[in-house]
Amino acid sequence: MAIFEGSFTTASTLKVGITRIITPGTVIEEGMLIAKKNNWITAIYLSEENSNASYEWGISKADVSTGELITMEGKSLSKLFDEIVKLDSSEIIVGSNEIKKLLIKENNQIIYTVSQETTFGINEANYLIKKYFQIANLEGIGLKNLNNATRSLGGLLNYLEKINPSNLDKDSSVKISLDFPQIQFCHDKLIIDYQTQKNLEIKNTQRENNYVGSLLWSIDRTYTCMGARCLRRWIDSPLLNVNEIYKRQNIILNFIESKQVRIDTQNLLRAMGDLERLAGRACAGHANPRDLIAISEGLKKLPKIKSIIKLFKYDLPDWTDHLKNIDEELLELADTISFQLVENPPLNISEGGIIHDGVDNILDGLRNLMDDYSEWLNKEELKERKISKISNLKIQFHKNFGYYISINKSKVNLAPQHWIKRQTLTNEERYITSEIKNKENKIFQIKSRASSREYEIFCELRNLVAEKTKQIRSIAKSIASLDALLGLSITSVENNFIKPSLIPINDALTENHTKIIAGRNPIVEQLLNDKKFIANDIYFDDNQKLIILTGPNASGKSCFIRQIGLIQILAQIGSFVPANNAEIKISDRIFTRIGAVDDQSSGQSTFMVEMSETASILNQATSSSLVLLDEIGRGTSTFDGLSIAWSVSEYLAQKIRCNTIFATHYHELNYLKNSNKNIQNFQVLVEQNNEQLIFSHMIVEGGSNKSYGIEAAKLAGVPKEVIEKAKSVLNSLEKNNKLNYDIK
Ligand code: ADP
Repeated sequence: MAIFEGSFTTASTLKVGITRIITPGTVIEEGMLIAKKNNWITAIYLSEENSNASYEWGISKADVSTGELITMEGKSLSKLFDEIVKLDSSEIIVGSNEIKKLLIKENNQIIYTVSQETTFGINEANYLIKKYFQIANLEGIGLKNLNNATRSLGGLLNYLEKINPSNLDKDSSVKISLDFPQIQFCHDKLIIDYQTQKNLEIKNTQRENNYVGSLLWSIDRTYTCMGARCLRRWIDSPLLNVNEIYKRQNIILNFIESKQVRIDTQNLLRAMGDLERLAGRACAGHANPRDLIAISEGLKKLPKIKSIIKLFKYDLPDWTDHLKNIDEELLELADTISFQLVENPPLNISEGGIIHDGVDNILDGLRNLMDDYSEWLNKEELKERKISKISNLKIQFHKNFGYYISINKSKVNLAPQHWIKRQTLTNEERYITSEIKNKENKIFQIKSRASSREYEIFCELRNLVAEKTKQIRSIAKSIASLDALLGLSITSVENNFIKPSLIPINDALTENHTKIIAGRNPIVEQLLNDKKFIANDIYFDDNQKLIILTGPNASGKSCFIRQIGLIQILAQIGSFVPANNAEIKISDRIFTRIGAVDDQSSGQSTFMVEMSETASILNQATSSSLVLLDEIGRGTSTFDGLSIAWSVSEYLAQKIRCNTIFATHYHELNYLKNSNKNIQNFQVLVEQNNEQLIFSHMIVEGGSNKSYGIEAAKLAGVPKEVIEKAKSVLNSLEKNNKLNYDIK
């Protein structure tokens, strides 16, 4: 959508030009944004293929409405694809059709915009970044030697400038204010690839793509949109650094220790506007008076938030410093806004009624004149009543006709000669007089001068706020983090979460030791309502690296393996976790292979999708990864599939030595334990009562040697004759193919 604007220059020639092109990634208008979600625009730089057939890349993404800017770079195409699917961008810009084609080949669900004019050249990027951030070199903002990230950022700034030229000599182009880039390194966050995001239903459910039923839904109790966006970002990139995680936990701990502090903070945050986006609109020249009042109200809460934080114990995250040492100028700005603006200003900023009396001498003078004219109108009303002898005559105002005398129709024969008829309504006659019309012109002039003056004062005030955009946004980020953690503390209290202790990723002494006592699945537990969720333990240590989990359909295997992944993510965002006790080794990456569906968009069969996912896990997992497998090898013949599942398990347990749970119907895999000392068998306990299966959802040691598939088929209504035949076929198959091992 292009915005054309005109301006009158001398000799009344109308200058017309495109001042801004609105694209999905560059909107800042409130109604076009989702409050609890960032609106990202991304530029991707991709190098030419180099001699050893690999690529280098850079990604920069910005939320124009909040000013956030994130940049990163990496080396392999597969890592780039992992990042792309997580971008969640409204718009992705690339530099050429060739790059677009290459990226679409991997995933044709994502739409790319080719910006032909965006060269992604290093010199141009250097120039643009220095110009945009008004800096002498890139070292200060951490981009030195990060050429690929720099190129992508150059491409992004170039695109933003092209669609929204700031060099127009008119102030109608929107000023985009971005913070200094945050540089993210692929290795300092827990990697959750797209598949895992989907499988663990982190932000949306898999089937219906709903928010309700997702991990985020189960933990988000934030009060502000800023807080909700912050939590969403955290859940996308959980931390690896144990100290950073502990500092977040400490804030939750402070909130949990005092109900009063929780209530006080809730009350402060509940009424807080979206300071990040409000400041962005002020900077862009789009804020209205109500936006500025919301900023002022928000800023005025800072001293109270400060007094809460000052009482907090333990080691706190660095961002709390912004809340402890409030920039006094922001408080002065809040006072200035409430001194200048009336409490309930109209939305329209050009018709006046925005600025308080006593703010500006010129405006006060004009308003005094207006008062004189009102006085004159009152007197004129009395005079005309006397002349006409119509005691309920009124002088009124209509925005299309101006001032007029209004009388009841029954009095029309009393209208004096000097009244000129203007309009007849059902019960009312309207007149004007030459005196009233004369004065009206003067009143209009004064009114228009007063409104223009109010507009000028308002724009000056808005500019004052715009100058403080960066400071407001940085305090807003701290408030967002505080809100996210307050929400997590409320979730913990409501759902009995506990503080997990954490083991750093490179702690050689404990290897991948993880121990969760009475863990629960936070999503399923909340969805069950009245039904009790059955808690289960899990251990991973040197003797138990890979767990083979057997049990019939619907017994709770998927729920359990998802629960392990969800608890790992919660622990690494700093949240408390649903368990009675938890000691969790930090993971570098979570891999999941759950369920099997044909990937129709890429024409891949169920089995190929399954095998590609398995290959990706075996090629990329490290000893610090968590691998959650729900069936492998179901899309081919039984022996084929079983053999693949068998060798994949051994490879994971022996070669990679990562923590793995493998839920399977191949109960033959229970024999793996006999030849691998770090593979253990667990099963979901099921009781069979009169051919009825009773699910306890309890996970206990030992492998089950029965799949109960035929019982499930019976429950589903498969004809009795087919069931009986199936039973006899199963019997003979089991006799003939029994492996020569004992299940332990
Ligand atoms: P499976 O993967 O073995 O087919 P699911 O994990 O999908 O089974 O579980 C089926 C249903 O059982 C879930 O939707 C949930 O309602 C219920 N369930 C699973 N685990 C538990 C549990 N630990 N406590 C209570 N209900 C559970």
